[in-house]
Amino acid sequence: MSHLSPLLQQSSQITAHRGQGSYLFDQNGKAYLDFTSGIGVTSTGHCHPRVVAAAQEQVGQLIHGQYTTVKHPKLMALADALAEVLPDQIDSVAFSNSGSESVEAAIRLARHATGRANIVAFQGGFHGRTLGAASLTTSVAKVRTGFHPMMAGVVIAPFPHCYRFGWDEEKTSEFCLNELDQIFLGQSAPTDTAALFIEPVQGEYGYYPATQAFMQGLRERCDQYGILLVCDEIQAGFGRTGKFWSLEHFGVQPDIVITAKGLASGFPISAIGASESLMAKALPGSQGGTYGANAVACAAALATIAVIREEGLVENAQHQGIYLEQKLNAIQERFSFVADIRGLGLMRGMEINDDLGKPSGARADLLVKASEKRGLLLLRCGSHGQVVRWLPPLVVTEKEIDEAIALFSDALEEIEEVEESQERL
Ligand code: PMP
Repeated sequence: MSHLSPLLQQSSQITAHRGQGSYLFDQNGKAYLDFTSGIGVTSTGHCHPRVVAAAQEQVGQLIHGQYTTVKHPKLMALADALAEVLPDQIDSVAFSNSGSESVEAAIRLARHATGRANIVAFQGGFHGRTLGAASLTTSVAKVRTGFHPMMAGVVIAPFPHCYRFGWDEEKTSEFCLNELDQIFLGQSAPTDTAALFIEPVQGEYGYYPATQAFMQGLRERCDQYGILLVCDEIQAGFGRTGKFWSLEHFGVQPDIVITAKGLASGFPISAIGASESLMAKALPGSQGGTYGANAVACAAALATIAVIREEGLVENAQHQGIYLEQKLNAIQERFSFVADIRGLGLMRGMEINDDLGKPSGARADLLVKASEKRGLLLLRCGSHGQVVRWLPPLVVTEKEIDEAIALFSDALEEIEEVEESQERL
């Protein structure tokens, strides 16, 4: 009998004993090509030697130095290194342990800095499982189900999901901005609105990049009304989309950036970044927490940033992302139930339909399981679980992409054969 919670027991059957680069190995040494990267976390691959060495060295020096009690050198160095890679004008950072916690920190900062209560978030957004973060989350019902009442003061506005709307970028952007203007006239006056929280490339809802016109429209409204633009870069940031921050694709300047996941290649740490003048408006006691900016996690994050920059991993993500996209597009041409390929860099989603042209979580699930059997790990996302997501580590090679595509093609053929034989019965 396992003492793990029943819910957690139902998850993957694979036990990962060891990881190296793009691969995981189970107890029998069977290799799995890991195109999940621990949900976008192992940015430099599993157990990158420089990340391992930095963490090992730090463990022998100092493991924990609670950061509101004492400073430690890796904390100071990480704040500097992050300020260097963050967008211009974002020169001050505060740390927590997970994405959700940093989303909460950003909500607190936005409310403290503006003295306003309301937050506008976007349909299909995912911001985490803690109460504030879940209140901003509408991508998947399970994050909110049974969790009511949610945090007050949240208004949800449409996001430019061009594929879902069936419109081009221009029409979709215009529609969504008009709806936001209506919200400002009714549900949430600008003078009551502290911030807009957005993933510039939505993750959990199905790998939807926003549009440039929409993001710029948000920036204009934020400037006009003194509202803060908060970019949740937890999944799409840190090189994942072929730029250091996904917001760079849209040419907008954020007021607050939230980062986690890829930041430390797997060690739990997250951060918010803002200008020093904005960060100075945080009320005493609102930033901190016992484990925030753990020394080993800081050392791993510093090594991760160095590896990403020195090994050109953002460029690799861009380059390999285009290669992966071409391969996925070729698959779409062969299989009519592959309805759409979306995303940027190494954050690619494949929308799977049923035979009636409706989103099919069941078929996507069969595909992911058939891939896993062959040694390729993929995840699903989307409101129906209908999107197969491809998020290999930023170190992925063309050869590994070829290997993954070959395994996946094999899985597709199996599903097609099984379905055809079921139809004959
Ligand atoms: N925001 C985004 C965009 C995410 O993808 C996630 C995690 N999937 C979170 C927030 C929450 O992060 P965590 O699971 O570390 O709390």
